[in-house]
Amino acid sequence: MNKIIVTIDGWSSCGKSTLARGLAKELGYVYIDSGAMYRAVTLYFLRSHLDWSDAQAVADHLKDISLSFHQNEHTGQSEMFLNGENVEYVIRDLVVAEKVSEVAALGPVRTFAVAQQRQMGEKKGIVMDGRDIGTVVFPHAELKFFMTADNAVRVERRFKELYTKNPNISIEEVKNNLEMRDYIDSHRDISPLRQAEDAVVLDNSNMTMDEQLQFAMDLVRQRLKLQIQ
Ligand code: C5P
Repeated sequence: MNKIIVTIDGWSSCGKSTLARGLAKELGYVYIDSGAMYRAVTLYFLRSHLDWSDAQAVADHLKDISLSFHQNEHTGQSEMFLNGENVEYVIRDLVVAEKVSEVAALGPVRTFAVAQQRQMGEKKGIVMDGRDIGTVVFPHAELKFFMTADNAVRVERRFKELYTKNPNISIEEVKNNLEMRDYIDSHRDISPLRQAEDAVVLDNSNMTMDEQLQFAMDLVRQRLKLQIQ
């Protein structure tokens, strides 16, 4: 059967990755977490104490970065590797989250990430989530979602996730970080977060994960039928 590309964009902590992972599993597709790539680049820049207002230094550092995804054999989930090191856990830290939107707004960083993302979609059969996947990375994707949820719901979800790692974290810190990232992501000059005209909006504030998956799978089935015709 022909394979398609499914894109999922939206605000921070809307449950994009959960839905993307679920869809990829149902379909036997590859799941790509594009945000993990920007987080890994940010981690590298932070570790190098790079001043990213220096365009030449950014370009030089990008040459030393190799990103790859590998499947964890125990969990079955794909994890982010930076120059051969598994950074899946550390890139979720608030220290990285505080800076990632600044780094992701840099033109050379986006060019670097988008080229690799497009390559991953060459054979289709992928579900990719992010901020510009349906608008810039795969503008011709067969199925696009734009996810949103109430702010309070999003903050609580992210707080619960981060609290298990760091009980010192406050709900205020999490709220400020989400608001800051959403603002920078939607106001940057290059590839700002916006809803693609042909995207299906999914507000999951009051939906279970199962309901979201069923909703999305119904649309995938429709698109796949169109592919056959
Ligand atoms: O998806 P996640 O929240 O992990 O993404 C982290 C950050 O990476 C976002 O806040 C955004 O700044 C950046 N990002 C992006 N474009 C994407 C995916 C993520 O700019 N396609």
